[in-house]
Amino acid sequence: MENRIKLHDRTFRVLIPEARIAEAVAAGAARINADYRERKNPIFLGVLNGSFMFLSDLMKRIEFNCEVSFVKLASYEGTSSSGAVRDLIGLGGDIEGRDVIIVEDIVDTGRSIAHMVETLRRKNPASIRICTLFYKPEAYSRTIPIDYPAMNIGNEFIVGYGLDYDQLGRNLKDVYVVTE
Ligand code: 5GP
Ligand code: MG
Repeated sequence: MENRIKLHDRTFRVLIPEARIAEAVAAGAARINADYRERKNPIFLGVLNGSFMFLSDLMKRIEFNCEVSFVKLASYEGTSSSGAVRDLIGLGGDIEGRDVIIVEDIVDTGRSIAHMVETLRRKNPASIRICTLFYKPEAYSRTIPIDYPAMNIGNEFIVGYGLDYDQLGRNLKDVYVVTE
């Protein structure tokens, strides 16, 4: 494991090694397995790009029949006065009447996940729950419960295991934090 790495102009050091991430993923999967065993073919909805590595490791530990799909929140600046507009893209199949588990890389203020839940609710699923690898409880400012947070972290900027710093660092198997 390389202890210090450079991405663009910043230096990062290891915060959470691969083995600890694996333990948290396994514990999260065990909770989901216990809760969903009796449900009919739930759908895991990974939010791209950041969740790809977590979703992959999580799914290997899920012990019930399920579907897996990916969505993306595309943000762009609106030309009108409304500011940032965010579209949910990639939701192919019908989720009406289905149990949906959103899989996120990280929940910070909760703005993204709140938008995602609002958008999905309009499609009348039977239930929506949120699973996230990292959760920043001190930054979270929404009321929607975060059902399956695998790991809580402080208000620090992390990269690796899917998470990026300006698109770099997603391939790292450990999680790094920016140094001063
Ligand atoms: P929120 O909408 O909850 O404030 O932020 C969620 C999004 O912000 C995440 O999906 C992620 O793209 C980005 N983000 C928040 N905190 C971090 C962090 O510590 N590291 C990285 N790489 N992205 C973060
Ligand atoms: Mg994300």
